[in-house]
Amino acid sequence: MFFVNRGDTAMMEKAKAICANCPVLEDCRNYVLYRPERYGIWAGMTEKERRRYRIVHNIRLPAAAHGSRTRYLSGCRCKPCRVFYNRVMRTR
Ligand SMILES: [Zn+2]
Repeated sequence: MFFVNRGDTAMMEKAKAICANCPVLEDCRNYVLYRPERYGIWAGMTEKERRRYRIVHNIRLPAAAHGSRTRYLSGCRCKPCRVFYNRVMRTR
């Protein structure tokens, strides 16, 4: 995988070309597709392409951990999520 500056198309193409010949391409893809946003090129795909791929193949990312902002905002009101909310969101 590679870290490429957003918008650096030439570099992205180069990275993808290398990925295409990578012996662990499949592993890399399986790894990254089931994890939330990772920066850079993975398995020959940009972040945008991975997002598309997940939608097309109906891959759902694991939910955010309890006690995190994302989880609370997605509607969870379990104890860790409420504690997080009380501590972080309301003290501003
Ligand atoms: Zn929760």
